[in-house]
Amino acid sequence: MSGTIQVCAACGSETPETDPHPRCPRCRGLLEVRHQPPAQGGNALRATFDARWGVRRGPFASGVWRYCEAVLPTAGEHILSYPEGNTPLLAHATVARWTGVQDVLLKHEGQNPTGSFKDRGMTVGVTQARRVRARAVACASTGNTAASLSAYAALAGLPALVLVPKGQVALGKLAQALAYGARTLLVRGNFDDCLELADQASDRLGVYLLNSVNPFRIEGQKTIVLELLQQLAWEPPDWIVLPAGNLGNTAAFGKALEEAREWGVIDRVPRLAAVQADGAAPFALSFRGGFAERRRVEPHTVASAISIGNPVSYDRAVRAIRSTNGVVTSVSDDDILEAKAVVDAAGIGCEPASAAALAGTRRLVQEGVVRPRDRVVAVLTGHLLKDPETVRHYHEQIEPPHSPPPARANRPIEIEARLTEVERAMRG
Ligand SMILES: *Cc1c(COP(=O)(O)O)cnc(C)c1O
Ligand SMILES: [Zn+2]
Repeated sequence: MSGTIQVCAACGSETPETDPHPRCPRCRGLLEVRHQPPAQGGNALRATFDARWGVRRGPFASGVWRYCEAVLPTAGEHILSYPEGNTPLLAHATVARWTGVQDVLLKHEGQNPTGSFKDRGMTVGVTQARRVRARAVACASTGNTAASLSAYAALAGLPALVLVPKGQVALGKLAQALAYGARTLLVRGNFDDCLELADQASDRLGVYLLNSVNPFRIEGQKTIVLELLQQLAWEPPDWIVLPAGNLGNTAAFGKALEEAREWGVIDRVPRLAAVQADGAAPFALSFRGGFAERRRVEPHTVASAISIGNPVSYDRAVRAIRSTNGVVTSVSDDDILEAKAVVDAAGIGCEPASAAALAGTRRLVQEGVVRPRDRVVAVLTGHLLKDPETVRHYHEQIEPPHSPPPARANRPIEIEARLTEVERAMRG
């Protein structure tokens, strides 16, 4: 008998790990994957993970499957891996100074195969699709999930269906979905409408649903936390800061930390700080009211990856914030764009949603929640090239929402093809 089951977070009913329903078959609640604790925890489990560090071939070359005891111990020969993960933990003095924390490290998830952390969940999700013998896979997405699903489905030889809100998906992400060959539907509506449709389609058409309701994606995303802990020689930071939209990642981080403590991998749990955009901050609003009520908003933000008004993983994320003594905050689009300009000009680069983590860190320092001497890891969730239009807009001011130009704008200079003009431009 397998040691892994799916448990409904709402009604508690249990289903086998290979049950393909995206939600609880009884009450449609969110499912959670529950593993039997590994036979050996603590030092022995850390040593197992450490022994796989640097393996170059097979599943253990992946920064997800290296932690298979915590992800999906029974995946076996079904594993489909690029490989993914193994992302760097970067230090940069200018970025640190801007946030007000000396010791801030950037976990750059934009370095994954399709340029976002979604690959960590998708390798597990598509592996699971193979295990349940799915004939096709589908998702609704603000862009990165679509890009990742399209790539992993193509690797697996499975047809993919993606639903994205028309006109609200960053150019790089849409380009990826098309290029990797997914059937791409531009829905006249917002992300929440897409999610609803995908849910219904999976019921009716029998395709395997790989939204973040899918609990196996959460299992893969836990490895962001496990990998950063391992990179810190299992010495936990004081804070882990991340952008928050649909709240799947917030939930994954909380679950990873709970299990890591239960299994003796760490003895102290870092505090989570989830950061939303002011224009799409239902979770931050709810947090300010002590999570007394669930909120819903009409989302508007430049950070399209977190432009979500009714987050699916709300309940899971509340638990993550509570169990880590965490906080939730929000930041303006101007602050997000400034943080992004700082990260970009440092030579690191990220997409707008990712920069919310740094803008949020700065806000929490200004409010005295994060102290300047705390050790902070901020997660950069996606790559700079995901959203080239926002970059052009900021630096070239194609339209003028910003007048005067943003302080960090780096305007291109058009010249005649003459050396004197090059010289003048270099002096200017
Ligand atoms: C998906 C995504 C997020 C938000 O993650 P959630 O799990 O939906 O909260 C943030 N940044 C990027 C780049 C993403 O792709
Ligand atoms: Zn249920």
